[in-house]
Amino acid sequence: MPAENATGIWVVGEHAGGVPTRVSHELLGRARALADASASELTIVLPGPRFAEERLRELVARGADRVVAVEHERLDPFQLEAYAAIVEALVRARRPAVLLGAATTAGRTLMPWLAIRLHTGLTADCTELAIDPDTGHLLQTRPAIGGHILATIRTAGHRPQMATVRPHSTQPAAPDPRRHGTVERIPPQPEWLSNRVRRIAFTPDREKQTLQDAERVVAVGRGIRRPENLGLVRKLADALDAALGATRDVVDRGWLDYPHQVGLSGKTISPRLYLAIGISGSVQHLAGMQTSDTIVAVNNDPQAPIFQVAHVGIVGDLFEVVPVLTRVLAHAPDASGNSDRPDGSDRSDRSPRAVGIPAPGGEP
Ligand SMILES: Cc1cc2nc3c(=O)[nH]c(=O)nc-3n(C[C@H](O)[C@H](O)[C@H](O)COP(=O)(O)OP(=O)(O)OC[C@H]3O[C@@H](n4cnc5c(N)ncnc54)[C@H](O)[C@@H]3O)c2cc1C
Repeated sequence: MPAENATGIWVVGEHAGGVPTRVSHELLGRARALADASASELTIVLPGPRFAEERLRELVARGADRVVAVEHERLDPFQLEAYAAIVEALVRARRPAVLLGAATTAGRTLMPWLAIRLHTGLTADCTELAIDPDTGHLLQTRPAIGGHILATIRTAGHRPQMATVRPHSTQPAAPDPRRHGTVERIPPQPEWLSNRVRRIAFTPDREKQTLQDAERVVAVGRGIRRPENLGLVRKLADALDAALGATRDVVDRGWLDYPHQVGLSGKTISPRLYLAIGISGSVQHLAGMQTSDTIVAVNNDPQAPIFQVAHVGIVGDLFEVVPVLTRVLAHAPDASGNSDRPDGSDRSDRSPRAVGIPAPGGEP
């Protein structure tokens, strides 16, 4: 679409069974900053089944000025053609300047389809978004050339400016119950519901979900030296009821399978607790875990870059430290790692704290 008269920041929300998912709240956090920077209205479009009023109001509390819920029982679960018809019709009628989606399976399917239909550009997998103060353009930043550079892309002549954002690459917007906004519920036009795809069954991939949904992750790097040593970190993961993550070097060596890989070319996760064992902290690895609530790193090199993002740094030999940690945590009154930090709270204190680790065999 041509650029004239396009205004407003839009996000396409996602839901699971009529409940907006965390990624919708993450998108609102990103988009709220853009709306404030451009003095624009922030709208979230949510195709799906009938939504509970409090769920839609929560989207307002988390930053939306307007919620447009297009509701019909046939809109659950996600289906490409119907969702695309809905968003396209609304975009053509209301002409937003920016349209953001999540780089989830649904978002990665929907957004390119829409970009073609709307004859505009799309930057996939953005890690940063900003508004150019001079031109008002959306600055869409993402890793390029195999992760070696960060490229900033703009869509100068067409609207909407479209981008997808990696899930877990930012914290969800924190709710503010004092915020005001408008909730619109729209019944779909019959032609929006036409769909050539029939869903026969859905089988979730349990292994992949474990890592991305886990509240606690114990991740292992090349410091573990040999696959036979992995039992050490598995025991620690068991003590914490945590999922097992890995660096690419571990996966490339075949010590763990690809679904365990965290990072730029693996998964992006933000668990409440991320324990990095024998991991140096390359930029590609950090890209997948640095939004974790609490990062604990064990490394025998005090200069390892992982300590720059760690909240707690343990300088020591993992073969000595991990068994002690496992023993201590297995007997801790609350090994679950639960904290009372609310979602989206400020985690600005990034300075690592060194902690004392007792000698192996000594009293914890
Ligand atoms: C395009 C591209 C995409 C990439 N994508 C990813 C990705 O998705 N995920 C990813 O992880 N990497 C990715 N990489 C690879 C990345 O650049 C690093 O090579 C990798 O993250 C390093 O893994 P590592 O930390 O296990 O190994 P190393 O960098 O070798 O670090 C091992 C660490 O273990 C420590 N150590 C050794 N022995 C001990 C001990 N006994 N006790 C305690 N500590 C010890 C060392 O001090 C060192 O810091 C990518 C690279 C490229 C170019």
